[in-house]
Amino acid sequence: GLRTGIVGLPNVGKSTLFNAMVEGGKAEAANFPFCTIEPNVGVVSVPDARLQTLGTLSKSANVVPTTVEFVDIAGLVKGASKGEGLGNKFLGHIREVDAIVHVVRCFSDENVVHVDGKVDPASDTEVISFELIFSDIAQVERRLERLQKSKNKSGVEAAQAALEESTLLKVQKALENGDPARSADLSADEQDAIKHLCLLTMKPVIFAANVNESDLANEGANNVHVQELKRLAAKEDAGVVVVSAQVEAELNELGREEAVEFLTSLGAKESGLDSLVRAVYNILGVRTYFTSGEKETRAWTITSGMTAPQAAGVIHTDFEKGFIRAETVSYDSFTTHGGFNGAREKGDVRLEGKEYIVQEGDVMLFRFNV
Ligand code: GDP
Repeated sequence: GLRTGIVGLPNVGKSTLFNAMVEGGKAEAANFPFCTIEPNVGVVSVPDARLQTLGTLSKSANVVPTTVEFVDIAGLVKGASKGEGLGNKFLGHIREVDAIVHVVRCFSDENVVHVDGKVDPASDTEVISFELIFSDIAQVERRLERLQKSKNKSGVEAAQAALEESTLLKVQKALENGDPARSADLSADEQDAIKHLCLLTMKPVIFAANVNESDLANEGANNVHVQELKRLAAKEDAGVVVVSAQVEAELNELGREEAVEFLTSLGAKESGLDSLVRAVYNILGVRTYFTSGEKETRAWTITSGMTAPQAAGVIHTDFEKGFIRAETVSYDSFTTHGGFNGAREKGDVRLEGKEYIVQEGDVMLFRFNV
C-alpha cells in the first residue's frame, strides 16, 4: 500500500492528528517533547463522495473506500542527519514512505511547550527541511564518488551513468542552495535515473498547518503563521492544508450531524483531516477505479498507466492471471444512466481487453478464468 510519513518538530500536534486519523489508534498524545519514539502505522480511508452515489445506484450492502497508510514518524529533531540521538533511524523511516505530511505548529497555547520557545513556521520548517537536505547532500556526494570511480564502462551502461551523474549534479546544486531535490525541474528520464537513491527531498510534501479552532474559518485566513507557511510552501514546491488536530479529535466524539454543525459553526467547509487525506492521495499521483454491485461498491487505488489486468491484480492476483476482459463504464455514464444496466442499455459499457489503460473513475466488472 501507499505510505505517508507524518513528520514535524516535537509538540506540534503530530500524535493528536495521527490519533484522530486512525480510529482506535494507539499513539499516545502527551505534552512532552521527545515523547514518541517508535513509529505508529495506521490505515486511513480516503474520502470520496462518488462511492456513496455508486453504492446507492447498485443497492450495495457495503461501501468500501480505498486507503492510505500513515506512519507517525516522531522524533525528527535538529542534528538528525548527523546521526545525533535516534535521528538516523527516523531518516530511515522517512526513506520508506511515498509522501510526507509535515505538521507545522500555527497555534498559540501557553500550556503547550514549544521546543524553540515560540511559534515560528519559517524556522520550524527550516529545521526539518535542512535535516532532510543535509541527509540528501551526503547521499548524493557518496553516489557521485562511486560513479566517478567506475568511469571505465562503455555503451548503454556508460550512457546511463552519465545521465545519472548529470542529474545528480543538478540535484546537488539545488540542495546546496537549500532547496529540495523535487524543485530541481528534472525530466521524467532524469527522475528515473536517480529513483533508486530514494532521496528524501524528492518525495512530495504537504504542510499541515495545525491551528486552533478559532482560526479554521476561510482556510486559516486570519492566522499570520498560515499565511507565512503558504508563502514558504510555494517556494518549496509543497502543498498546504489547514487543520486543527484538536478539533479533529473532538469531531471523532460527535455523530455525523453534530460534526457537520460543529464545523459549520467554526466556518469550515469540511473536516481538515478529510482535506488532508485527499490532498495526500492527489499528490501521490494515483488513480481510483471502482467495482460496484449488490454485494459491495468499492474504490481501488492504481498507479497511472496501469492496464486492466494489472488493475484487476490489485483486487487479487488470480484476477490478473486469469484475466479475460473487463466490462468498463465511466463514472459519469454509470451515474447518468442509473447504474450498470442502464449504461449497458445505452451501449456505454465497453468490453476492454488486456491492453486497456484504466482511467480515473472507471467502473469495472472483470471476467476471468479460475
Ligand atoms: P507531537 O509531539 O507533535 O506528537 O504533539 P502532540 O500531538 O503530542 O501534541 C502536543 C500537545 O499539543 C498536546 O498537549 C496536544 O493536546 C496539544 N495540541 C495539539 N494540537 C493542538 C491544537 O490544534 N491546539 C492546541 N491548543 N493544542 C494542541
